[in-house]
Amino acid sequence: MSETHRVFNFGAGPATLPEPVLAQIQRDLLTLPGVGMSVLEISHRSPTFTEIIETTRTNIKKLAGLPDDYHALFTTGGATQQFAMVPMNLLAPGRTADYIVTGSWAKKAAQEAERFGSVHIAASTETEEFTRVPEQSELTLSPDAAYVHLTSNNTIFGTQWGQIPKQRGCFLIVDASSDIFSRTLHFGEDGIDLLYAGAQKNLGPAGVTVVIVRDELLQQAAEVDRMLPTMLQYSTYAKSGSLHNTPPVFAIYVLSLVTQWILENGGLEALEQQNKRKAQKLYNAIDCSDFYQGTAQPQSRSRMNVTIRLPNEDLETRFVSEAASAGLVGLKGHRSVGGIRASIYNAFPELGVAVLVEFMREFERMNG
Ligand SMILES: *Cc1c(COP(=O)(O)O)cnc(C)c1O
Repeated sequence: MSETHRVFNFGAGPATLPEPVLAQIQRDLLTLPGVGMSVLEISHRSPTFTEIIETTRTNIKKLAGLPDDYHALFTTGGATQQFAMVPMNLLAPGRTADYIVTGSWAKKAAQEAERFGSVHIAASTETEEFTRVPEQSELTLSPDAAYVHLTSNNTIFGTQWGQIPKQRGCFLIVDASSDIFSRTLHFGEDGIDLLYAGAQKNLGPAGVTVVIVRDELLQQAAEVDRMLPTMLQYSTYAKSGSLHNTPPVFAIYVLSLVTQWILENGGLEALEQQNKRKAQKLYNAIDCSDFYQGTAQPQSRSRMNVTIRLPNEDLETRFVSEAASAGLVGLKGHRSVGGIRASIYNAFPELGVAVLVEFMREFERMNG
């Protein structure tokens, strides 16, 4: 492999970025066009950066089809900080929040919320080793919940909600860290009220978290009034355009390029079709073979993280190492579950999936 050859990166996050975006970053790194400096070196209050953050916000609003009463915020602390910020801002003392537990991240979110109020587990698939997400009919929602929280794609277990349940009566909060903008989303009436995502899987580099939030929730947060530190209040970000203090400027700049790239490539509808094709190709390869077993139940299969078992762990270890030698890297499953995991986020090329499927056939022929 030459020094500059790019591999197919199946890593779960931080994950592969679109090549045209990387090339653009490289071109802009000594000087943004006409600025004489890079984005790493300019004031976050300069006209140049103001334009960058506004473009990013506009792109996100366009892609998500956001109604006017929603804000796009940029926070730090990853999705993990959102596990705390959501209940801090929205779960008043004495109130209950509903959590749907479909994997490790969902469980962590629920555990964090317990620090701030009462948590009701509205459904959990843990006894089935998180091999599926529940049906809407299985949810035992509290009549007076402050909100219901779910994880739209379970990165570690390779499951995903086919449709985000329609919600009435309380706010719907979605952790979309591993599938944001991989398909069309529904905000507004009956839709998502707050969505958050660490950028490093589907959107950009680590260091920035996208939070999409409805005005009504900011009002609700004002009523909860916990005397939160300034930087832990959603309203701080909404009021200041995410510029209360120095934001992660480089990460936001890359986000502007990735969202632009999505828009130029047909937006979420086009990405959804492409992601469907990529996942289908891989699941077909699994279903055509007795050697490979998908771990997710078919109706809950993720289009982002495809989790696979081989007949034994020795074969899995060999699979991961031989694949890496063939330029297919990052295929080892999460350390908590083992197996193989192919993360095929938005920026992962279709060609890479075809190459993996070819490699799987050959590996089975040699070892099956
Ligand atoms: C990766 C991931 C997280 C954790 O994200 P951080 O940004 O590292 O805090 C949370 N939720 C889901 C669904 C994830 O995939």
